[in-house]
Amino acid sequence: MVKDFPFPGFELSGQELSCDYCYAKIPAADRPVIAKAAWEKGTAAAAAIFEKFNGEKDFSVIAAKSGLSCEWIDKDYVIAGRRYFSEYFSAKKQILLYSRSVELWAERHGMDREEAGNLILSHEYFHFLECTSLGLTSRMYQVPMLMLGPLKIGRTGIRALSEIGAHGFARFYYELSGSGKTPDESGTSIEEEKQ
Ligand SMILES: [Zn+2]
Repeated sequence: MVKDFPFPGFELSGQELSCDYCYAKIPAADRPVIAKAAWEKGTAAAAAIFEKFNGEKDFSVIAAKSGLSCEWIDKDYVIAGRRYFSEYFSAKKQILLYSRSVELWAERHGMDREEAGNLILSHEYFHFLECTSLGLTSRMYQVPMLMLGPLKIGRTGIRALSEIGAHGFARFYYELSGSGKTPDESGTSIEEEKQ
């Protein structure tokens, strides 16, 4: 186990779900069940991709081989007090990484920019898989869009489930590929922070 893995682990998936604006509409008994299913969708996809690309650790390589372009943009991307590290544009099959945002995140977690960028890329790669082959994890479970007494109008998915799936993917891929570093690299790594 990596102590300071920077994305939330499964133990925090309930918390992630509770931040979803549809949370109150999900019956309490269903919450742990759907969080687990979303996480497992991520880990299963990680195992499949790890095998498909022969254990390739570098997600810029995996992305290129998948017809997905990645571009670093030199900015710290903050909107309404929230910092964004990357975005996936499904129509263009493109991921943008915001380098100054990523650098700040990397610093906070004691990683270099490349390593942090690779982890973020792996997270976004799961969203690419959702859009191209797996189906949106957010739609695994649906709740009414609007509830007015006994009246239920529309159906909507749960966005947090896609995030939980992407965290599961990134985490499990990272574990499958060891420390995420090649053996000749030195310096501080997440592994060295283990107790
Ligand atoms: Zn995401």
